[in-house]
Amino acid sequence: MVANEAEILGSVAKNGFYDIDVDPTLDLFAEINRLKKEKNAVILAHYYQEPDIQDIADYIGDSLGLAQAAAKTDAKMIVFAGVHFMAETAKILNPDKKVLLPDLNAGCSLSDSCPPELFARFKAKYPDHIVISYINCSAGIKALSDIICTSGNASQIVNSLPQDQKIIFAPDKNLGAYINKQSGREMVLWNGACMVHEIFSLEKITRLKERHPNAKFIAHPECEEAVLALADYIGSTTQLLKYTEQSDLNEFIVATETGILHQMQKASPDKTFIPAPPDNACACNDCPHMKRNTLEKLYLCMKYEQPEIIMDETLRLAAKKPIDRMMDLSRQFGLI
Ligand code: SF4
Repeated sequence: MVANEAEILGSVAKNGFYDIDVDPTLDLFAEINRLKKEKNAVILAHYYQEPDIQDIADYIGDSLGLAQAAAKTDAKMIVFAGVHFMAETAKILNPDKKVLLPDLNAGCSLSDSCPPELFARFKAKYPDHIVISYINCSAGIKALSDIICTSGNASQIVNSLPQDQKIIFAPDKNLGAYINKQSGREMVLWNGACMVHEIFSLEKITRLKERHPNAKFIAHPECEEAVLALADYIGSTTQLLKYTEQSDLNEFIVATETGILHQMQKASPDKTFIPAPPDNACACNDCPHMKRNTLEKLYLCMKYEQPEIIMDETLRLAAKKPIDRMMDLSRQFGLI
């Protein structure tokens, strides 16, 4: 069936993605690779995407790596296999390129926990503070920020500022509290959190550690303080991956989204990776927003070039400034 433009746009507006059945006999890997060449497209995928999407991506990374890859690419089209704020960041950095997101509804509970109107009022209460925002936020929040950071560079960015500089940190209170503890600062924290990293079960992790006494427990700093207190190593997704690659040990309990286990297992096939269990009936912890993207949606969005990220230019320019500042600082620290 050949779709017309009105039908595609109508379906995307209604569902957030182009909702048609894909022929199950189609070799989606071959088709996506063909479309990549035909359209001069690059696929950037976050570590939390399903394994098939990671395997077909041109670049896999965490927020910092993906922002950097988006800034560097010379492809005409960026297909972002991640969530909305990530594709939006790619568009902020590449206004002349077509940026696609397989499912527009792939949001983020952390980003949603910080609406720009409320944050603007919060910020107004602290006129002598500068705003450092974690990249997991909307363009509206970025535009209200002075510097953006990721979990891979947050500590260095905060520590690069004079000790008496007053700071608001948004939107993740757990990452903010972790940096406060590390740096001895008292940044004012916005009360936001990630639904995936907030629901790890302390009890189940403790039991798991007892059953696997030789395993190292590694955690992302978006986890709650009590979970981080149990961790042998704390780091961004990329740092956790590197840690497991470089370690002489063979067993790891991993407290972050389970998608990263695919890369850990690929990099260290003889090691054992156990997902830290959440406080519900599931054995592992998937981000429902990240997992909205499927290989079928990726294929359809490349074929029909929808859904596309469209941004207001004034907002884009305001949101770009603090990202540029992060990139400059990351270069100074030798992180990129
Ligand atoms: S894992 Fe958390 S921070 Fe990342 S996209 Fe999902 S909800 Fe947002």
